[in-house]
Amino acid sequence: MNVLVVNCGSSSIKYSLRRMGRDESSTVLASGLVEKIGEPVSRIRHMVGRSETVGEVRAADHQAAFGLMIAALAEGPGAVIAGPKEIDAVGHRVVHGAEGFTESLRIDAKVLAAIEACVPLAPLHNPPNLTGIRAAMALMPDVPHVAVFDTAFHQTLPRRAFLYAIPYDLYSSSRIRRYGFHGTSHRYVTEAAAGFLDRPLDRTNLITCHLGNGCSVTAVANGKSVDTSMGLTPLEGLVMGTRSGDVDPALAFHLVRALGMSVDQVDDLLNRRSGLLGLSGVSNDMREVTKSAKGGNDRAALAIDIFCYRLRKYVGAYTAVLGRVDALVFTGGIGENAAHIREETCRGLEPLGYVLDAAKNAARNRGPRDLAAAESPKRILVIPTDEEALIARDTARIASAAPRRAPTPRTT
Ligand code: ADP
Repeated sequence: MNVLVVNCGSSSIKYSLRRMGRDESSTVLASGLVEKIGEPVSRIRHMVGRSETVGEVRAADHQAAFGLMIAALAEGPGAVIAGPKEIDAVGHRVVHGAEGFTESLRIDAKVLAAIEACVPLAPLHNPPNLTGIRAAMALMPDVPHVAVFDTAFHQTLPRRAFLYAIPYDLYSSSRIRRYGFHGTSHRYVTEAAAGFLDRPLDRTNLITCHLGNGCSVTAVANGKSVDTSMGLTPLEGLVMGTRSGDVDPALAFHLVRALGMSVDQVDDLLNRRSGLLGLSGVSNDMREVTKSAKGGNDRAALAIDIFCYRLRKYVGAYTAVLGRVDALVFTGGIGENAAHIREETCRGLEPLGYVLDAAKNAARNRGPRDLAAAESPKRILVIPTDEEALIARDTARIASAAPRRAPTPRTT
């Protein structure tokens, strides 16, 4: 079975075509990115193995962009299939599923309506996801389309973890609560870590740190998410590339009342001008910030210090939440590659049972690995994330099974 995995933004579509193996693994036949959809000149970057082709043609809308993608997959030097009929199912990444979706499922009119109902909760992300789904369904109406939600893994959070201490009515009437994001990545590394540790998933307790441009940490008890650092929106929690993470909510009132900022300006400040970028003044990219810190830039060093300090606090808190922790797991571009961030995060956590082996941490290995010292009571793992592999796996499983009825959404 060939599964097309897509992630639709407002002007871009990221894709990969995967051939499924027997054991739910998959191999990437081709991948790519269509950018600048709707602009006078759009761009498609199509990769097969290490060879890349770049095309510049106009894609007026998402449907046209899917057309370009399918042409790249089926025609010309980057062709990996004989025609669109060799695409057996399409898996869509959907950012917000609110409380209606606790797992991936096949898309039908009801599911589309339920995703639409989540738009007020994810006004930036769900509309382009929906546009992409509709365009793909129009172009490939005969194959199953599956939605995989970034929030679904966190639907097992207990009320004490997902409710804010604000009037309960706001939850019952408007579903204002913590949702958590990056669920596909946290779930992928949870399952992979259980496999790596050779433990049954339902008896595995983990703290999973997804550290990319966006960053979040999740407490996993018996294979299920029980707390996570992102909240109603992806702004809460850790320091990120451009997001502040946790602040006193009254900061927003102060910025409006004392500094005369508009609500949009505060939104922009906290989501796009804060985090590593805001603190360092250098970049949102950890590699750049690290280079600058090594070159003596004090603010860049401070940004890294605050980044690791915040993460260390969460690891401590989630250790208390879980009681027993089998492993601390690092993933994402920073978590997988930045040894100095792992080292600084774990510094001082030895009394809690996290003892890093300096040499293992510094080794430039790839793939799943254990960085804990032999005597460490808890394991410290790097598990490279692969959200697309998980989307492909869910899609293949659901596409092979009988169609299911969508749940009735509970969002307003
Ligand atoms: P996204 O969240 O967009 O998927 P990634 O998971 O690719 O992002 O992570 C991007 C982050 O990872 C950037 O801050 C980047 O600097 C960082 N990163 C990638 N490689 C390294 C590295 N070798 N050392 C330090 N940071 C790295």
